Amino acid sequence: MSPSDTLVIVGAGHAGGRAALTLREAGFAGRIVLIGDEAHLPYERPPLSKALLKGESSLASCSLFSEASFLASGIEHLSQVRVTGIDTARHCVALDTGASLVYSKLLLAIGGTSRRLDLAPGQLGNVRYLRTFDEAVELEKSLKPDTRLVVVGGGFIGLEVACSARDRGCEVTVLEAGQRLAARALPERVSEALLTLHRRKGVVVRLGAQIEAFRGEDRVQSVQLASGEQVPCDILLVGIGMQPNLQLARQAGLETGSGIKVDAFLQTSAEDVYAAGDVCEFTRGDGAFHRQETWRNAEAQGRVAALNMLGQQQLFDAVPGFWSDHYEFGLQTVGTLAAEAQIIERAGVDGGFLLLYLDRQSRLAGASGWGAGNSIAKDMKLCERLIESRAVLPVEQLSDASVSLKGLLRGAHV
Ligand SMILES: Cc1cc2nc3c(=O)[nH]c(=O)nc-3n(C[C@H](O)[C@H](O)[C@H](O)COP(=O)(O)OP(=O)(O)OC[C@H]3O[C@@H](n4cnc5c(N)ncnc54)[C@H](O)[C@@H]3O)c2cc1C
Repeated sequence: MSPSDTLVIVGAGHAGGRAALTLREAGFAGRIVLIGDEAHLPYERPPLSKALLKGESSLASCSLFSEASFLASGIEHLSQVRVTGIDTARHCVALDTGASLVYSKLLLAIGGTSRRLDLAPGQLGNVRYLRTFDEAVELEKSLKPDTRLVVVGGGFIGLEVACSARDRGCEVTVLEAGQRLAARALPERVSEALLTLHRRKGVVVRLGAQIEAFRGEDRVQSVQLASGEQVPCDILLVGIGMQPNLQLARQAGLETGSGIKVDAFLQTSAEDVYAAGDVCEFTRGDGAFHRQETWRNAEAQGRVAALNMLGQQQLFDAVPGFWSDHYEFGLQTVGTLAAEAQIIERAGVDGGFLLLYLDRQSRLAGASGWGAGNSIAKDMKLCERLIESRAVLPVEQLSDASVSLKGLLRGAHV
């Protein structure tokens, strides 16, 4: 890259912000333009459903940059500006301001949009979604003591909001269509622990809930279930997942599937165009395509994409993982939790546990843990290193919590 080059990043979220910072840290002295349709500097989203809703965090503490370090970086930030088109042949993006911008390299870090419920426009007065800081502020204002909050969707965001709302004295009902909580991402054992905890904290959780209708004229006043139950509602939080923002890439003729498809270096099917974060569909050694909606993925891909924009050839092969916080408990997952894996459980402290997922060669492929506070963090870090080591493990010893994972790592046979 020469200093006369212009590197353009679309999406000033986590992956985009991390990429912009990495470009500077790696020594690129030329023009970096970070374009985002939100009003803020890039920030991390995990606190939105946790500390921020409890009134324990602020935009500044979620931000990837302080104002001062951002100014010092010389990165141009076009805020509240949308990119409306990409001309890959002319290396140019169109903005909703009417202007256009020529790029040398382009990164698409445009994340996704909350999936919407099909509600009558007149009912939307008390309906909330949670993806952005502004939505979190709006939701936070409505979580007053005794507010009846109905959460549609028993996934991470819905459950974390339920937890923050209980903290604020709300009455909470979670409606989950499936037979267990966060089933797409979690082992059954962890879903059960989550269910037990939320119910113990006073959340009414309805599994297998079939919603028949949303009742109310100017807002949703109750939710009618197929079972006949009518759930009264002051605020309705919809947490039914997100859809990656694919329109731009599709219009530009980039290869897409469930995300924007990239090669092992995070380059899309178009020359000089990269993708990272929630919108990015990538391959791991197995040749299959994956997409992740996690902090860790946005962080790692933002960094790798930036280095590759600078001409480095860095393979993206980070071990996947995520965490989620519920009251005084936390869960974490690293690696791959394949259905066909051999699963071994180890006891943790204070009712916590660790599930180890072994492949056919008795190597650790993934792990999922549940425990009080941060009690599983150290073991999860060791699991990550065991996954990376590809060490063959002594299966018969793994369920014995007195056999240390650190010791296994030290004596690992690869
Ligand atoms: C409430 C919440 C809690 C979470 N908690 C956790 C957690 O506990 N653990 C965990 O691992 N992960 C968590 N996540 C997931 C994690 O935050 C995301 O995976 C991460 O933010 C993805 O980063 P991204 O940069 O890919 O997308 P985003 O952060 O969504 O950024 C994309 C940005 O691009 C902008 N944009 C889109 N299209 C355009 C356009 N055409 N022009 C200009 N700008 C555009 C969007 O407005 C957005 O600002 C949470 C997410 C949410 C929403």
